[in-house]
Amino acid sequence: VSTLTVTGATLEGRTVGVRCGGGKIVALGPGVSAEPGDEVLDAAGLTLLPGFVNGHTHAAMTLLRGCGDDLALMDWLRTAIWPREARLEPEDVYWGTRLACVEMVRSGTVAFWDMYWHAEEVARAARDAGMRVTVGIPIIEDDSGTGVGAGRDQVEATLARLEPWRGEHLEIALAPHAVYTVTPDTLSWVAEVAAARGLPVQIHVSETEGEVHDCVAAHGVTPAALLERLGVLGERAVLAHGVWLDDDELALIAARGATVVTNPVSNLKLATGRVFPYPRARAHGVAVGLGTDGPASNNSLDLLQEVKFLALLQKHAHLDPTVLPATEAWELLTGRYAPRLGATYPAVGERADFLLARVDEPELAAGDPVADLVYAATGAVVDTTVIGGRVVMRARAVADQDDIIGEVRRRAERLAAG
Ligand SMILES: [Zn+2]
Repeated sequence: VSTLTVTGATLEGRTVGVRCGGGKIVALGPGVSAEPGDEVLDAAGLTLLPGFVNGHTHAAMTLLRGCGDDLALMDWLRTAIWPREARLEPEDVYWGTRLACVEMVRSGTVAFWDMYWHAEEVARAARDAGMRVTVGIPIIEDDSGTGVGAGRDQVEATLARLEPWRGEHLEIALAPHAVYTVTPDTLSWVAEVAAARGLPVQIHVSETEGEVHDCVAAHGVTPAALLERLGVLGERAVLAHGVWLDDDELALIAARGATVVTNPVSNLKLATGRVFPYPRARAHGVAVGLGTDGPASNNSLDLLQEVKFLALLQKHAHLDPTVLPATEAWELLTGRYAPRLGATYPAVGERADFLLARVDEPELAAGDPVADLVYAATGAVVDTTVIGGRVVMRARAVADQDDIIGEVRRRAERLAAG
């Protein structure tokens, strides 16, 4: 394995080199240069940035992009998504995830938290793309007659097959879909398995008002309180959405050290009718991260687009442009408020995950660098993506991109045809 050295990059106004070894950054600073035998990457005109972590997605849904757009959540799931998902073959998930990885790498994402069928194919695709992933093993017990479902035996079997893959590049999570599609009994079982094996639990929580009403009607408590009762709420819990969480729930989530991942574009597109209560969540001390949700409900995987929506939506909803200023939005995007999601900042001893962005792109040419990234740039400013000391994109070129696009086109057409 060769050692990568990046030379001539800009970091906060200085020219620096970055030397990587064993997947980590071993040297970083103005005096760092290549040593004989190193793979050398000339980063003149490029600025060094941390890689992004997508805290919640369903990557393979690139296959279902555009299916049932502009429908309400439950109509969308029942009429457009679940029937097609029932026809998914494992190889579909592999190629759909590969396409998502191309898009993520091209917009600066180095790691993603995924929740999707055929979890082993997600793992295989992320490995082949050179990305880090937390693979969520999905659990759904909905009996809507669509044929979708994954019970405990399936989960145990998938866990056993994925276990040998666990390491620096891959973590396994349990991913019960939501409190309205998984029974309390199974959620308790999830909590036990997760605790016994030290696994994270990903779950959609309080995405819609109807979900909250139904939960209170069925169980007498709000969704976060139900998760607390069942033992799911803890430091390893990653809660997607949280749009309708109330103050008691936010306090409880903060006390248990769980993470909430907000997905503003998906919430807007599906018209969830309220905005994630970000200022109150932070005031309670809740860990907050950012995700795109799946590419069928966004439909982009570009976190530099997502962070702009996040900041603008919070300002708009609170009638206050001082809410979530650019520096804070950047810190949120780069994982500062959600340590459990695994983002790192380029430094000696950290994972060698970083980006090189084009300073000469018009959007980054003048003005405040952070505000430019949050408000003006898209993922297209990213020139180079390095993950674990390996260059997975250089000059915006990703290996196998054309083959991947061809495969996904063919498979998406088959799924749409039924
Ligand atoms: Zn989701």
